[in-house]
Amino acid sequence: MNIGFLGLGNMGGPMARNLLKAGHHVTVFDLSAAAVSGLVEAGAKEATSPGAVASADVEAIITMLPAAAHVKQVYLGDGGLLANVPSGVLLIDSSTIDPMSAREVAEAAAKNGNPMLDAPVSGGTIGAAAGTLTFMVGGSEADFQKAQPILAAMGKNIVHCGDTGNGQVAKVANNMLLGISMIGVAEAMSLGVALGMDAKVLAGIINSSSGRCWASEINNPFPGVLENGPASRGYSGGFGTDLMLKDLGLASEAAKQVRQPVILGGLAQQLYQVFSMQGHGGLDFSAIIKLYRQED
Ligand code: NAD
Repeated sequence: MNIGFLGLGNMGGPMARNLLKAGHHVTVFDLSAAAVSGLVEAGAKEATSPGAVASADVEAIITMLPAAAHVKQVYLGDGGLLANVPSGVLLIDSSTIDPMSAREVAEAAAKNGNPMLDAPVSGGTIGAAAGTLTFMVGGSEADFQKAQPILAAMGKNIVHCGDTGNGQVAKVANNMLLGISMIGVAEAMSLGVALGMDAKVLAGIINSSSGRCWASEINNPFPGVLENGPASRGYSGGFGTDLMLKDLGLASEAAKQVRQPVILGGLAQQLYQVFSMQGHGGLDFSAIIKLYRQED
């Protein structure tokens, strides 16, 4: 297939490469010339603007941009995608943005005659490189079926979450829970160790008891519990605190719009905010345990 791809950063770069590896023809655009030339070396065709991608005889366009403001600019702005794309071309936005913005852009696309899906991902940069991302997809069943072979080149788990915007709903709900549960694990681990328990033994108990969760088992925040986890390498790599902060901001913004309380989500957001303000925004979010422990 001929596919357009905009946003070739930490996630979009490897995703576009996987489309090339799967045999698709890919036309790319990014504001960063270095990001574009990396993809051109891998076999992609360069476009000089979003409008040029839209006019490049593509059957589908994927965007992987930092935030809603970039998505709106690229789709709705002067010289953007919607002003140039022929009707019928399938549009897929994989950026993580708030559900309302996703619905607003999809509505404009529909008026233009373009089907659009929101398809945010989980799996991080490792999943993007390995082609094992999870896609949470919002939109019609028919459009989901059309997108599946494209998304399958970049992900392993492709889930239809319902109507437009529901991919983003799934993403913010999951990541809010993740942010909260990491703080819970950090608090419980710190309490147990402060009361004299060995961290590995305590983690073993939690992970075979009712406190078990991804944050306790796969990404335990206490140093030394998991040999290969971010906590055992100075919290480098992994999922950055500032990215978690962004997702918690999306959750609280979306919650406000439907007057739904997110009490623990709001508290978690403030704790990560404090941690980021202290200069730790680049550390894996499990480093939030530093708020509970003096020695680190
Ligand atoms: P990034 O900052 O590495 O990449 C974004 C890219 O978009 C950059 O190359 C930038 O130049 C480009 N860009 C910005 N504005 C543009 C425009 N107007 N036109 C064309 N290109 C433009 O970000 P990332 O880590 O790749 O994340 C992308 C999205 O994926 C974000 O919404 C993020 O929340 C989400 N996400 C990231 C991760 C992760 O682990 N990094 C995991 C899941 C989801």
